[in-house]
Amino acid sequence: MTPEPEQSAGGRADQLIELARAQGFARVGVCDAAPSEYAEQLRAWLAGGRQGSMAYLERNTQIRTKPGELLEGTRSFLIVADQYATRNDPPDPRPEPKQEAGRARGRIARYARGRDYHKLMKKRLHALCERAREMYPDAAFRAFVDTAPVPERELAARAAIGWTGKHTLIIHPRLGSYLLLGGVATTLELAEPETQKPIDDHCGSCSRCIDACPTDAITPYSVDASRCISYLTIERRARIDPAFYLRIGDWIFGCDICQEVCPHNSPRPPSVGAGQANEAYAPVRDGFDLLEVLAWDEQARRDAFRGASLKRATLAMIRRNAAIAAGNALANADLPELRARLEAIGADAGEDEMVRQTALDVLASLGA
Ligand code: SF4
Ligand code: SF4
Repeated sequence: MTPEPEQSAGGRADQLIELARAQGFARVGVCDAAPSEYAEQLRAWLAGGRQGSMAYLERNTQIRTKPGELLEGTRSFLIVADQYATRNDPPDPRPEPKQEAGRARGRIARYARGRDYHKLMKKRLHALCERAREMYPDAAFRAFVDTAPVPERELAARAAIGWTGKHTLIIHPRLGSYLLLGGVATTLELAEPETQKPIDDHCGSCSRCIDACPTDAITPYSVDASRCISYLTIERRARIDPAFYLRIGDWIFGCDICQEVCPHNSPRPPSVGAGQANEAYAPVRDGFDLLEVLAWDEQARRDAFRGASLKRATLAMIRRNAAIAAGNALANADLPELRARLEAIGADAGEDEMVRQTALDVLASLGA
């Protein structure tokens, strides 16, 4: 394949944006590789221990604050967003036609209800990089989705994908915040197209996400990860402080509350439009039966999580989360089988210690 004729920085950006659009991304933009404007805040956030046990955030501070160091000679980023749900989708709780009487379910965050976004986004970004390398053989390209230590949300705001809400997630004025971010670092210089206008902060005096957060994790434009249910259920590998149990409700993987209450995720008339979710993310599950999760072994967990973005939760973590959600279900309903399962776990000396202790803490909180 012969390289394309030489292009200006603007022409190169247009070409890459076109390639990304052809891959079906809902939003695409470019930005430079300047150091983070929030380096001091990140250091203060880390110094305050708000990262909980996510030690990897400390290890990669250098790249998080200087994203240009992700790939030697990085000059620009192409940032993309996939829409996994729309603001017109039905709100939770969704009808659970298959739910049996006397059973309780644990809920998972919307982004994890369809296929694994890491795989879906990386495959298309890698295809984009391959084509870009053919066009610019002297340039380097590196795709990333979640796993690279770059400040994705800051880059997304710079690339006009949306603005950073008070809950720290990216919001697009029309599409809302059910967006998954990824991108490509490149040694090419890309200029922002004239049509790429910065998106202003539309949070204004709103504080709905702050008021609705069950664990008081949000202060404007900052989330204390060590209090956030998403962190507690997906990242924390040790016991969860029982003070959070009640607040965790029925969430066993993630939490969507701050997004659900946001006015920029509220339904809009079809004439205005709310974008279209990528069909690949069509929900295949809303959650799991708690009795089943509490009985899972490693194979059952693998089977249940196959093809989904749920793998960060180990067997012990998801069963710990299910034990907490089971306690909250038992506080509201008489579910003898579920209570018996928790009691069996608490009495089993061969159990995973974190799961056993959580079951005992839950039973104690129920006055058992
Ligand atoms: S995900 Fe849930 S717990 Fe975390 S900040 Fe949002 S509302 Fe609070
Ligand atoms: S709920 Fe309100 S304050 Fe929070 S992100 Fe949405 S608009 Fe901003």
